[in-house]
Amino acid sequence: MNVPLLDLSPQYESIRTEVDEAVQRVVASQYFILGPEVEGFEAEMADYLGVPHAVGCASGTDALLLPLKALEPRPGDEVIIPSFTFFATAGAVWNAGFIPVFCDIDPVTFNVTGETVESVWTDRTRAVIPVHLFGQMAPMAEINELARERGAVVIEDAAQAIGARQDTGASSSPGPDSGSGDRSGQVLAGAVGDAGAFSFFPTKNLGGFGDGGMVSSRDEALAEQVAKLRVHGGRQMYHHEMVGTNSRLDALQAAVLRVKLPHLPEWTEARRTNACRYHGGLEEVDQVTLPETLEGNYHVYNQYTVRARRRDELREHLTGKGIGSGVYYPMPLHLQECFRELGGREGQLPETERACREVLSLPIFPELGTERIDRVVDEIESFYKE
Ligand SMILES: *Cc1c(COP(=O)(O)O)cnc(C)c1O
Repeated sequence: MNVPLLDLSPQYESIRTEVDEAVQRVVASQYFILGPEVEGFEAEMADYLGVPHAVGCASGTDALLLPLKALEPRPGDEVIIPSFTFFATAGAVWNAGFIPVFCDIDPVTFNVTGETVESVWTDRTRAVIPVHLFGQMAPMAEINELARERGAVVIEDAAQAIGARQDTGASSSPGPDSGSGDRSGQVLAGAVGDAGAFSFFPTKNLGGFGDGGMVSSRDEALAEQVAKLRVHGGRQMYHHEMVGTNSRLDALQAAVLRVKLPHLPEWTEARRTNACRYHGGLEEVDQVTLPETLEGNYHVYNQYTVRARRRDELREHLTGKGIGSGVYYPMPLHLQECFRELGGREGQLPETERACREVLSLPIFPELGTERIDRVVDEIESFYKE
């Protein structure tokens, strides 16, 4: 029995009729750019998140780029981001015209904290992008407070965290997961900062049939700027107040995503059930450190990421047994060649660099099933017994 890291087919099979009908509806209408499907999905996402504004765009990368461009950077302006994230977070900062300033992470959650952000703050800091890595939110109360005090903007990178939520006062202390059900007194990822960025890349928890993204915002002026920037910088055709770009959410993608959104809570619960079974199975394996959820957080497990001794050998062993795994991420962003001129050096962000050496993500997709999880657990156990 092989265990792929991710298999998207069973999910499609489970909603095939609805999805095919939705696609046909768009094809029959020949309305492909913006229009009713995109507007409908934007309204449904705004409602789901509990925010007044949601603006579709072409990718999660652009969902970061557009609100950053809306801040109109001056030369030398800085944005604080984690070094331990997908490259897009840094690429968007750079392409918007800001200097990315990298901070370290909390070793327990892999997320930035108020403290790690504050330690790299300068008088050029204009914005902070906390990334809700692997599906658990960064401690937003302390990050928001810091940014508010100092007049900076907070853009949440919620690409891996749609549906993740957090008690409004949650801090970085360990404790029980806040479970399912009651959402009162909690905020959803992407609904706490000045803006939130979502990706509908097929491997994300809400994935389309191609690229897609969305900016959520509680700030009307910011949402308005983003809506202009995605159509070359002007609401009225052929009149441009600013230089934007072409970055729209495709109507076909919006139609597919409208079918999928109502299923997201049940798919998320399935991921959490899988995580629970891994916990039970791997608890006794000393060589593996399991992901931890901080008190007041609801983790949505876009990735189930452990730290493993002899990580690369373990990965090879699993590959040999037909079990997929991933290393997110093997190389910190402050050491990437493209950012050499920023002067990043080894040893600068020790927790980030250690995480890059130790992390391993295991299959966690909703339809995985108990048998395959047990198989992964057995193979990890037998590797360390050898
Ligand atoms: C996937 C991802 C993005 C970018 O999304 P795309 O839709 O692939 O452009 C940005 N940030 C993080 C943390 C991601 O995981």
